Amino acid sequence: MNPAFDPERFRREGRAVVDWLADYWAGLEDRRVAHTVDPGDVRAALPVAAPEAPEPLAAVLADLDRVIVPALTHWQHPGFFAYFPASTAPPSILGELLAAGLGVQGMLWSTSPACTELETHVLDWVAELLGLPPRLSSRGAGGGVILDSASSGVLVALVAARERATAGRTNAAGVGAAPAALTAYASGDAHSCVEKGVGIAGLGRDSLRRIPVDSAGAMDTAALERAMADDAAAGRRPCLVVATVGTTARGGIDPVAAIAAVAARHGAWVHVDAAWAGTAALCPEWRAALTDGADAVDSWGTNPHKWLLVNFDCHCLWVADRGALINSLSTKPEYLRNAATESGAVIDYSDWQVPLGRRFRALKLWLTLRLFGAEALRQRIRDHVTWAAWFADRVAADPRLVLLCPPSLSLVCFAATGGDAATLELLARINGAGEVLVSHARVADRIAIRLAVGATLTERRHVEGAWRIINAALAPPSAAEAAP
Ligand SMILES: *Cc1c(COP(=O)(O)O)cnc(C)c1O
Repeated sequence: MNPAFDPERFRREGRAVVDWLADYWAGLEDRRVAHTVDPGDVRAALPVAAPEAPEPLAAVLADLDRVIVPALTHWQHPGFFAYFPASTAPPSILGELLAAGLGVQGMLWSTSPACTELETHVLDWVAELLGLPPRLSSRGAGGGVILDSASSGVLVALVAARERATAGRTNAAGVGAAPAALTAYASGDAHSCVEKGVGIAGLGRDSLRRIPVDSAGAMDTAALERAMADDAAAGRRPCLVVATVGTTARGGIDPVAAIAAVAARHGAWVHVDAAWAGTAALCPEWRAALTDGADAVDSWGTNPHKWLLVNFDCHCLWVADRGALINSLSTKPEYLRNAATESGAVIDYSDWQVPLGRRFRALKLWLTLRLFGAEALRQRIRDHVTWAAWFADRVAADPRLVLLCPPSLSLVCFAATGGDAATLELLARINGAGEVLVSHARVADRIAIRLAVGATLTERRHVEGAWRIINAALAPPSAAEAAP
């Protein structure tokens, strides 16, 4: 028996781990959503040095219960309404297990053809389900890839945009040798990963123009037009515009078609960051609003690891011209040369991402689509939007609260009427109760409490429960509480 792999032991321990997870999920509702540990608590409960001798799995599971679980924020808790959801479910968990169990590397088509072809195929499926134009699918000059995160999607789009703007010379010569300084554009509400990306790609964070948003949280295209024209007139080269569909703070939607028209005048790449909201394009009733303009963009990305029951990490990025990505990211050392690549008939996904190696992430998306079916996934999204609208109506009708903007899909942003200090105090009281977790952001220059519906276990009663908790947190202290 090879001590590294004993099939009978693997069966036994695998079942024990699945049982442990099933119990964890079944007991989630009875836990506090957020941890209450202090920095260093977890490490203090662990041995100083790694074990020399093997330990039984039971000892590890006991430590999960004793040390790890109490120090978690339970993102799968039905009362989790903070940030955006990181929803997962058994099909995806099992797909992840299969990917780990197969243990293949898919950097090249030839290193495991199914790893590449399933990914290309499933991303064509998803593009079609979302109503993205065929030019973004592999049937045209484009195609999709699974990356770890929306941040990586922005970065690879930016590197492709940079090379396109400098006729492919920047990879060799560096941005300093470019004939003109490169500039990038995103709204003031765009995700911080855009700023991170322009720094990493060498444009410099100062080259990012933050374009103001209008009262609906959408990029002001007249301001974009002015900023791009000013840069061009000053001899700079506009390179990339990131349009956000569903901004992180409030779910604002940039006018992608109008942005693409402006960007086209300067030859700039247009990337759509639809990390959270993009999933809702599964539902025909929201598709037009969420995919408008997609027929004129260079790349479009969304995160099934937020709202589509696929566990992190799973960012889907589609590009209209896969050649632009490959030209900017491909390297072909001798040890990667092979006949399939030379033939040009295959996709080598290492040319579409930063790392070389890649695991079989398409499995979890494939299992999620097959074991749920698209209609069940649509129904969930509709439920979440309906419950968020119900919650927003309660807020709007309550004089102690103010809705800071209309709900965007399943995201509601509200504040205490009394101002920022009152809002922060309310936030602390809501989360302090432990039954739900909400987060905050700045919306129209006010502190907003964000309630994002979308956790896997959340049902209508949990959204109603959140409203009950908020009401209790708003209630003036009773006489008994107020007494010294
Ligand atoms: C969540 C989010 C991101 C970052 O997502 P990662 O996949 O964690 O990098 C980027 N943009 C928007 C609009 C988001 O909502």
